[in-house]
Formats: sequence, structure tokens, C-alpha cells
Amino acid sequence: MKRVVIVICDGLRADMVTPEITPNLIRIAKAGTHFQAHGGVFPSTTRTTAAAIATGCKPGRNGLEGNAVALDMGNGLEVFSVGPPGFRDKMHQALGRTLKSPTMSERLRDHGGAVIYGNASPGAALFLDPDGHGHLVHRDLAFGPGRTTLAPHGASHDATGDAALTARFIDEVLHDRKPALALLWQCEPDHTQHEVALGSPAHLDVVRAADAQAGRVYDNIRHDIDSGDVLLICASDHGHETIGEIVDLEDILVAAGLKDAKGSPDVAIAPQGTSATIYLSADAKSRRDAIAEHLQNDPRIARVVVGEDIAALGLDPEGGIDLVVLGHANEDLSEAGMPGTAIAFQGDLKIANNVGCGQHGGLGRYEQSPFLICAGAGFAPGLTIDSATSVIDIAPTAMHHLGHVADDMDGRALQS
Ligand SMILES: [Zn+2]
Repeated sequence: MKRVVIVICDGLRADMVTPEITPNLIRIAKAGTHFQAHGGVFPSTTRTTAAAIATGCKPGRNGLEGNAVALDMGNGLEVFSVGPPGFRDKMHQALGRTLKSPTMSERLRDHGGAVIYGNASPGAALFLDPDGHGHLVHRDLAFGPGRTTLAPHGASHDATGDAALTARFIDEVLHDRKPALALLWQCEPDHTQHEVALGSPAHLDVVRAADAQAGRVYDNIRHDIDSGDVLLICASDHGHETIGEIVDLEDILVAAGLKDAKGSPDVAIAPQGTSATIYLSADAKSRRDAIAEHLQNDPRIARVVVGEDIAALGLDPEGGIDLVVLGHANEDLSEAGMPGTAIAFQGDLKIANNVGCGQHGGLGRYEQSPFLICAGAGFAPGLTIDSATSVIDIAPTAMHHLGHVADDMDGRALQS
């Protein structure tokens, strides 16, 4: 039976996939095809990319447009993190839906099913299958089809947990259950990259650990890859930049008289790491151009995108976001010598931004360079492809291998 196995190494930059740092991924690349001009979605955040990977559609089409989003729960706009387990139900309550596009779990519900083991945030796991069509197992939540409750996995949120979860994934999913789609989402190296200098020994350790888990998965399905039954997709969701400076947009707009007060519902600022999205209440819509002009004059801000122009970023101009703020990114080195430095943002919600450590969410060169390797039928061994591909191509590629037509996605089925 045809099967697809997807292994995500959260946040692993394409330029770190080298024989010295990731020998296992290079081994898999030699058995398959290495896509070397692979790109992410905007915002280049984990939860938006999880939804984009699951649906094959950009955030504007699949309906999850940020790692943090503004919802009106009855008291005006309020910014919520998509991360906690309860966000999915809040979104459903406010909008009457979760994602607008079907996930692979939904498409495969009656065609061999999907089993997902997630080790990043609860939200990143949930938005791979928010309506419970397949099996989804995370440390804080676990569901079977129909959102029946299962036991959480209990693995820790670090490289040790990734290793324990990978062992279970191999035994329980790859050898035992053999669903049409098996997806493992490791939290590293992203989890550590947010806390240390990119390129530092602590960073390299977790990259090597994530690489080792990918190698374990590969070694356990190698025969089925060679026979053409299994397609193995190893990928990351986004890369990282080093935070050079943090800009608090809430402070700036309140000080300028363009937002009523901290946390006020007129101007809701959702931080996305190295970008931000701003939602305006009906009464504040008239302030849009003044806000754009004020922020555009800040030398740390590269671009403010408004109105119909946000469609070019892959967002929905009718989806609630009124402005997108992009910070400057450059080639400056981290303390440990890795290139790529960007401005990070705070908004109504305060997120974990650490100057000198990694972050993502914007359009910087390195955060927009995840990696992609496909090994199996249709992918020539040892080939490298330099034409542009995207994280939204993963779902159509997986569905194509399984024999399903999925031409209603934004992405396209890849081959070599
Ligand atoms: Zn991520």
C-alpha cells in the first residue's frame, strides 16, 4: 500500500543542512531529491505553516493568518495566541469555523487515515487537523477521529522529548498502524533557537539531535522507500533570523495617539515575531493610513502593507487584517557567526523575543529558507532542484503519491 511519512525538524534553516551538521539528512538527500530553493509562507510562523502544510494552501486561503490573531469574542477585538490548547475552540466560537480548506487528515479520513505526533506547541499540532478527522497526539492534547479523547504522549518539549516521541512514532505508527499519512513534528531545533545564539554549540547540538531522529525514521522505512511504497518527506516549516532589536508597536501607536490605550480593542496588534499584523475596529478603520504613515517613518520598519496589497503576501484582504508591518532584515552575523539579523515586534500580546537569539515570522532571507528533501517513487536519487518550491507543495505532493487528485490547493505536486 502507498504511504507517506513526513518528518518536520521545526525551524531548521536550509543552510544548516550540510554533511558536517546533518549527515543523516544528507544521507536521505542522496537517496532522494533535495529542493534547494524552497520557501515558506507569510507569516513564517510555526502554526500558520502547520496549517499551510496540512492544507496545501496559503494562510489567506486556509484561514489561519498568524501565530497570534485578533478575534471579537463579544467585547471588541482582542489578540490571542494560537498556541494554547483552548484557542481552537475560541476561534470556532468567534468565526464559526477553524480552517477554511480541508486538511490532509480530512481528505484521507476514509482512505487509510492520518496519524500525527506533534511536539511543538499545542496550536501547531491542532492546526494540522483542527476538526479531528485523523489521530493527533501531543503532550497537552490527543484526539482520534471525531475528536474522541486519547492519551497525550507525555514526551518533554525538548530534544529528549523529540527522541522519545520518534521512538514511539517508529514503533506505533510506522511499524504497527501504517496509516496512509504518518507525520512527526519535532520541536527542535526551533525550541532552542529561540533561546541561544544561532550557530552556538547549544544550537548545533539540537540540530544534530533532530537530524539523528530523521535518520532513525529513514532507517526504519528504507526498504519501503526503495520499493516505491513509501514517500518520505523531510522538511522544516521555516528558518530563523537573529533578533537585532525589538520594536513594541503597541507603545509606538499609543504614544502617537493612534491607539487608545494598551490592550484597547480599537487597534489590535498581533506580533508574529519578525513581522506583525494589525486589525482595526470599524471605528478605527479611518486611522489606517495615518498608522501606516507613522510606522513607515520608523527607520527600523522596512515596509507597511495595507488593503488589497496584503494579497501579494498570501493573506486575505477581506480576512480581518488591515495592516502588515515588516521589519528590516540584513546579513549581519549572530554572536556565533551565522548570517541573518532582523527586527522583532511586540504588540498587544507580548511574546518571547530574545535579542541575540533566533526568531522568525517575516520575509527575511533565512527565515524564508526552510529545507525540503523527498525520497521515494518519482524522486531521482541524488538530484538537487534549484527551481522554487514552497511548503504549500508538501500536501499536493503527498496526495499525489497516495493516488489522490488535489488540484484545489494553492501548491503543486512536486517530482524530479
Ligand atoms: Zn516552527
